Amino acid sequence: MTDLIKDEKPSHNPLDSMMKRLEIAIEKLGLDEQFANVLKVPDRCVIVNIPVMMDDGNLKVFEGYRVVHSSHLGPSKGGIRYSMDVNLDEVKALAAWMTWKCAVVNIPYGGAKGGIKCNPREMSTNELEKLTRGYTQALKSVFGPDSDIPAPDMGTGPQEMAWIVDEYSKIFGQNSFAVVTGKPIVLGGSLGRFEATGRGVMVSARSAMAKLGLKATECTCVVQGFGNVGSISAKLIEQLGVKITAISDISGGYYNPEGIDIMDAIDYVANCEFKSLEGFAKADKITNEEILELECDILVPAAMEDQITSDNASNIKAKLIVEGANGPTTANADSILNDLGVLVVPDILANAGGVTVSYFEWVQNRLGYYWTEERVNRRGDRAMKTAFDNVYSYSEKHGVNMRIAAYMVGIEKVANTLKLRGGF
Ligand code: NAD
Repeated sequence: MTDLIKDEKPSHNPLDSMMKRLEIAIEKLGLDEQFANVLKVPDRCVIVNIPVMMDDGNLKVFEGYRVVHSSHLGPSKGGIRYSMDVNLDEVKALAAWMTWKCAVVNIPYGGAKGGIKCNPREMSTNELEKLTRGYTQALKSVFGPDSDIPAPDMGTGPQEMAWIVDEYSKIFGQNSFAVVTGKPIVLGGSLGRFEATGRGVMVSARSAMAKLGLKATECTCVVQGFGNVGSISAKLIEQLGVKITAISDISGGYYNPEGIDIMDAIDYVANCEFKSLEGFAKADKITNEEILELECDILVPAAMEDQITSDNASNIKAKLIVEGANGPTTANADSILNDLGVLVVPDILANAGGVTVSYFEWVQNRLGYYWTEERVNRRGDRAMKTAFDNVYSYSEKHGVNMRIAAYMVGIEKVANTLKLRGGF
């Protein structure tokens, strides 16, 4: 245990976490080393510098990234993150996770990710628009409906996607809605996309609860992060009959053992000055560290990477962790959770509902024919349930946990495609 803490502490690098699981899965699959080496590195990494004239008249340069990890199964797909913590290693890890994720849920996409080092909360709409258009200009030869298709991630949403569609369409002289997903509905967005990731988290939680014999009305759940994924996961899990006893966001944790009314909390965030849970009075304030260690049946980390580490994994009380965020658990924490008997539904499965409905959005854009929300939800739920059952039975068959099973399912598929395509 001490050794684990020693070797993990200095980095908490999501790329290390991704790579450690990749190595395990490669070994379990007995994959040819030369093919494995192709999967370990991204196809390409682009770094761009975007000058933006700020509202105060100062010219500021922002560093942005786009990493395409793989296009073997189809055009690469992955969100764009606006955060001060964005760095190339993080984007590389997130891009690789997208590759495995698309393969696990069986959609014809490769994996990519992008990001800009900025603090969107401190920027005006005008500055964000210039930044997003500048990023699109800089990456116009990377993005494309048949090559690389961005989507929202932390700090971005439908408005940023609308600016990308507009800028890209102007560059190429024709409307090109299929170049990004997660768009506003009037601009070719899909009904159900906004809730899709949280919905997939709920379907994963429901499927896992059935495997563990947990009854929804007797369960409690804690959700870390209250943005798109966290708030919607909390709302839909609550609708299953589960009591949500704690939620959190950047402002801290909020705990009420009697249960928190999630629609109430969502309305609070929408109407409060800071657009956060700051000041939410219907629960006791705790820290973001404490929230993870609360007594509960289900824990949904839905904020960011590296939240469950070898420092706190042994204090986790939940029986089930459903990873809404990408990379919330470090590789060294996996074995501790394993020993505790916690069932972890890994990120590349649990939060794949978003990319699944992104795929449906892209299909609708290309058909020029739009589906009802009921149809989107039904197909999305079915895809998530099928992927869950597939990974669960794979894990039982091969005697590995669900994370390694999901990596194995994804990697095997990409490696087979790579071999079939050949051309080296
Ligand atoms: P978001 O920007 O909508 O919300 C992020 C939330 O996390 C906010 O409530 C923020 O206050 C909170 N937060 C930030 N730092 C925190 C901290 N240190 N402790 C606790 N809370 C903190 O982002 P999102 O789209 O909900 O994404 C959350 C996670 O889910 C990310 O890891 C993202 O990559 C992943 N994800 C998102 C989608 C999607 O469709 N949006 C799909 C798959 C995975």
